[in-house]
Amino acid sequence: MSENKKRIRIGIMGGTFNPIHYGHLVTAEEALFQFKLDKVVFMPAGVPPHKRDKEILPPEERYLLTVIATAPNPDFVVSRLEIERKGPSYTVDTLLELHERYGPETDLFFITGADAVWEILAWKDAERLVELTEFIAATRPGYSLEKFKKLHVLPEGKGREKGKPRVSIIEIPSLAISSTDIRRRVREDRPIRYLVPEGVASYILKSGFWKD
Ligand code: NAP
Repeated sequence: MSENKKRIRIGIMGGTFNPIHYGHLVTAEEALFQFKLDKVVFMPAGVPPHKRDKEILPPEERYLLTVIATAPNPDFVVSRLEIERKGPSYTVDTLLELHERYGPETDLFFITGADAVWEILAWKDAERLVELTEFIAATRPGYSLEKFKKLHVLPEGKGREKGKPRVSIIEIPSLAISSTDIRRRVREDRPIRYLVPEGVASYILKSGFWKD
């Protein structure tokens, strides 16, 4: 009798999370549901490869905020892999390490913002990268998908051409919330309640982040 072993499907939620907000949490939950994922691993970037911004909180603080935000959801976990790795957090290195850790029965789905995804062909080792994962690109309603046509990807994630990324698009209304706006609000003493989980808001305000 042949044994049909079920493949394990893991979402890797990549982002700077500076700070994490409800748009990210809704994105992960929607990806979990739509792609029948077994769990979502939040992966705060240690040193984002393309950013040198003084507004970016130290990795340990962004990690902590991500843990606080995801704690109530049993399907969400947070990884320290990128924040502990030295040097820029290249996604290809992360996915290679995760494939090694999880083994050949696991499929990885890299979930992130559409603006990041459409540049993936410029990321480190792009050719290798596109073989390691399917991408889930989160957009807000009204986002133009023209750019994705230029990438020659199939937005529905159907079909597969060697060397081309597999990208599925998911529309997330609550992505109208953005980390940039939250930082601005904190600086201007405007409320962030209901944009981020309560514990995240309390920790941000208690720590005085983005105040100077
Ligand atoms: P970003 O350029 O700051 O974000 C682009 C847009 O996507 C923003 O609107 C952002 O909103 C949103 N976004 C970011 N992460 C998201 C998520 N997980 N779910 C939903 N929306 C998200 O992107 P980033 O955070 O720096 O990078 C995204 C991921 O791509 C990270 O894992 C990063 O390491 C990876 N990356 C890798 C390379 C490489 O390997 N060479 C290069 C670039 C990026 P918010 O600001 O509100 O989050």
